[in-house]
Formats: sequence, structure tokens, C-alpha cells
Amino acid sequence: MRIQRIQAIAISLPLIKPVKMSFEEVRNAENVLARIETDNGITGWGEAASAPTMTGETQGSMVAAIRHLADKLEGLPADDIPAAMHRAGQYLYGNNSAKAAIEMALFDALGQARGKPVYELLGGAKRMRVPALRLIGTGSTAGDIAETQKRLAEGYVAIKIKVGVDTPEADAERARAVAASVKDDKVLICTDANQGWTPDEAIRFVKGIADTRIEFFEQPVAAHDVAGMARVAAASRVKIGVDEGLHSLDDLRHHHQLKAALGASLKTIKLGGLQAVHDAALLCEELVMKVNLACKIAEAGIASAGLMHLAAAIPSVDWGVSLSSPYLADDIVAEPIALSGGYINVPTGPGLGIRVDETKVRRYTREV
Ligand SMILES: [Mg+2]
Repeated sequence: MRIQRIQAIAISLPLIKPVKMSFEEVRNAENVLARIETDNGITGWGEAASAPTMTGETQGSMVAAIRHLADKLEGLPADDIPAAMHRAGQYLYGNNSAKAAIEMALFDALGQARGKPVYELLGGAKRMRVPALRLIGTGSTAGDIAETQKRLAEGYVAIKIKVGVDTPEADAERARAVAASVKDDKVLICTDANQGWTPDEAIRFVKGIADTRIEFFEQPVAAHDVAGMARVAAASRVKIGVDEGLHSLDDLRHHHQLKAALGASLKTIKLGGLQAVHDAALLCEELVMKVNLACKIAEAGIASAGLMHLAAAIPSVDWGVSLSSPYLADDIVAEPIALSGGYINVPTGPGLGIRVDETKVRRYTREV
């Protein structure tokens, strides 16, 4: 089985409602699909969100990167994914999100060819059902509490409060109020500042939430400021997690060495694919770091399926699984990954276990 053709497709999907984060408000998901045809008639799909503030890649640059790599990879064996991705790395430095879309499509094609779900290709399933971590970011304390109560009533057992949008004191007050509104002490509560603060501001925030049962606080300061992360971690009773600052296994080791994080948010777009996330999860286990597995707001049904195969296969997902397709008003797969009572089931069909609706892909395709 050989790679015959690789296409890059830019899509823009509407969100049900905007998600507010420290620098930006996300209204549309601007993602890139990789569509790979093999010489034996299989079509594999991959997807990656554009997240310029996190990865430095835009939708246009991702499309360009996939097109740049297409003729270097076409003709290679489709069943040797490490060899194909090694070749991609030789021809193009960085561009992990574009590479993640290609690699996911190769996993989908290989799984279909072998009649196996992707989690089998990643070493087998340890679980087939995981709790979904639900984002809370309405822009007000009353709104956040109402949203939290609504989601808990639906069966969610994990919530993440977006902070870094107001002063540290105001956001700590809001996070405290939301956490206090959760009566079930088995519910996982965490916060994420998306690099929104300076170390001093973040320390004011962690002091404000010290006596809550918030489990962890993600990326308080700028991605590159690992020393700043370590300062916040030293001042915090709540565990600190790294997200935007993590782009390689070396970044994970660096945060661990400097005591800058006790857990990590693993995303294919940052690390460059399913295999890299799997490797990072194994390293987290070795370093005794917690794992949050996440899609970027808002990857659709293809990347969400990829995430679920990882959720099945990696050693643990103690800090939750952040699926982003539920935030979308429409999807490009025939049966979007379903949530039932706040839990997500791992797809079981061959490859990613999804059926891409190419009519919808064309409807949401945009020129970049
Ligand atoms: Mg995050």
C-alpha cells in the first residue's frame, strides 16, 4: 500500500457560541484537513486546528506546509508511518500541526487497511469510555455558575474555568465562586489562563484560590517563561500544568527538571501527531506527571476521533479529556463523537472509526 495523493483542505466551522480566552475570542474553528488516498483505494483523513498563538501556524501556513510535503511523501509505503514522518521532518522543520494532520490521515488509512481501530495500532485500549472535561468561559461569574450547574446536571464530572481574562483578584473570586457551587467533591475542577498573566499576577491568582479544591491551573504565564512557571508553582498550593509551553518531549523534561509543572496538556497540534502524544504520555508516566489530553478549540470529528483513540491507549488521563467538537454548530463527520452523560465513548470501527461527509467538507471549505 503506497501513498498516492495528499490533499490539504482548509475549513471554517461555526461554533455554537464564542469561547472567550485570555487574548482572543474564538468564534469559528479554522482547521485544516489532510486527505490521503492510497494506491489500493483507501482514503484516510486527518485534521488539525490552526492555533497561531499556541503553535505559530496559521491556516494558510498549514495548507502550504501540507502541499509542500505532498510530493515528497507521495509514492512512499503508507504502512510505514514513522518512515513517512521522518521524511516529512527532513524536508520541513517544525510545522507540527500540519504534520499532525498528515500523520493522523496515515493512521486512519493504515487502520482501515488492517481492519483495526487506531487504538490497536497505538498498542491497544486500556479504557473505552472517558469523562469529558467541559470548558466554562461565559464572561461572567453568574454565567459561569449557571453554565457549570447545567453541565453537571447533564452528567459532566470535569470542568475547566477559563481565567486570565480579568485581574487576578477578580478571576480568583470568579473561580472560587464557581468551585464553591460544585457540591459533588468527585467533580474535577481546573483553571486555565492561556498565558494571560505575568508571574507576579499569576501568584496573586494562586493565593486567591489556595483554599479551594481546584485540582490544577494551566499555563499561568507566557509559554517561553519556564522560570516564571516554576516561580508560580513554588508559590501555589494548586498544581501547575503546562500547555502552550509544551512542543516537544524535551519541553516536558525541562518543565519537570525546573519543577515548573506537575502535569501537562497533550495535543497533537503541538507535538506533531498521535505517536508523539503517545510518547509524551509514556514520558509523563515515567516523570510522575499528570496528563490532560486535549483538542484545540474547536477541532471537529476527525481530530476528536484521533483524540479518543489516544484516550483509549495512553497510560492515564487523570486530568481529563478535552474534546472540542461538542462546541461546534456543525461537523464534517456523519456521526459526530457522541457525549452521553458527560462521558465519551471511544470509536470502535477500523481506522479512526468515522465516516467523513465530503458534501459537508465542501460546504465549509474556504480558500486561504
Ligand atoms: Mg490550555
